[in-house]
Amino acid sequence: MRYGIISDIHGNLEALEAVFKELEKQDLDKILCLGDVIGYGPDPEECVALVRSRADIILAGNHDYAPLGLVDTSFFNIYAKTAVEWTASRLSDETRTFLEQCPLRAEFENFTIVHATPSRPEAWNYILSIDDAVENFPHFKGQVCFIGHSHVPLIIEEKSDGRILVHRKNMVRCDSESRYIINVGSVGQPRDLNPRAACALFDSERLEYELLRVEYEVGMTQRKILDRGLPAFLAERLALGQ
Ligand code: ZN
Repeated sequence: MRYGIISDIHGNLEALEAVFKELEKQDLDKILCLGDVIGYGPDPEECVALVRSRADIILAGNHDYAPLGLVDTSFFNIYAKTAVEWTASRLSDETRTFLEQCPLRAEFENFTIVHATPSRPEAWNYILSIDDAVENFPHFKGQVCFIGHSHVPLIIEEKSDGRILVHRKNMVRCDSESRYIINVGSVGQPRDLNPRAACALFDSERLEYELLRVEYEVGMTQRKILDRGLPAFLAERLALGQ
């Protein structure tokens, strides 16, 4: 099966539309969304509706739960908190009900998907170091765990002898002896200094993974952020990819 995998859209409709346009060109069997469809960006309702119409599954991220009061936002920075309040004021009851029932983890064939970490998805921790990876490898079924959350694409490989390798490349043919944790980056708020929207392809038979980067109209999203009274920093960071 060929999968399209997206994560961290964050209410950025222009980036999401560009990514779906790209994914339409691929011959995909399923589209999976790893969560954070909303939060930060100016089009939360529209993004939820579009992802629901295209994706086969949508996991919950911390920013999907935040406006529902389902996560502790005391650790959110001021921009995120402001955006959570703004987003909460824009969500329809129907969308709230939908987001509330989104799962935190799912398994397909030979891989697992979560938003944050497979060991404790509900804790919203990050996998940023080798130690984080070592802790998480025992906690998923199959050969690969796809994650989002940090907005930084990354491929972490656990060799059969326990060695951990970190790859910063956009393609990998999985070694049948290794296991992988792969961060698919962010559609709507990339933080790897590359402002283009990220989305991923995975062929479960050939064990081939590829990360795509897609241009979109950043200026349009920035204008909407400012027009709708969201913090200017949230617009500025989109052009910088950070
Ligand atoms: Zn996110």
